[in-house]
Amino acid sequence: MECDGDRLDRQDNYDRKHPDAEDRTDAEIIAAEQDATARRTWIATAAAERKNASSKPKLVWPSLDELIAALESDEYVGFCLRCGAEAYCVEPDAENYRCEDCGKNAVQGAENVLLSHPEA
Ligand SMILES: [Zn+2]
Repeated sequence: MECDGDRLDRQDNYDRKHPDAEDRTDAEIIAAEQDATARRTWIATAAAERKNASSKPKLVWPSLDELIAALESDEYVGFCLRCGAEAYCVEPDAENYRCEDCGKNAVQGAENVLLSHPEA
């Protein structure tokens, strides 16, 4: 059985280590609140940045019909997976040719597109 004296001593120790908000000055409270706000903002920003970094650029896939038409044509049609533009004189197994429309090295030959197409 504990006696009350011990309990109060322990409470005093606790209070010294964990000052209540009432013991703090207004300036300290405001600073702590600003700190917490800054930390929340930082966490939200960091989470958003992480999300952006992990999400790959969205790819623009031609429809399977377009793809089949391209494979059946004699024109060597390729597709830019970044902007969706068609490109001509692209070998069926071409990879990452420069797109004349958007400038990205994202033009793939039709066979390549078929191999990696999400619906194929
Ligand atoms: Zn493009």
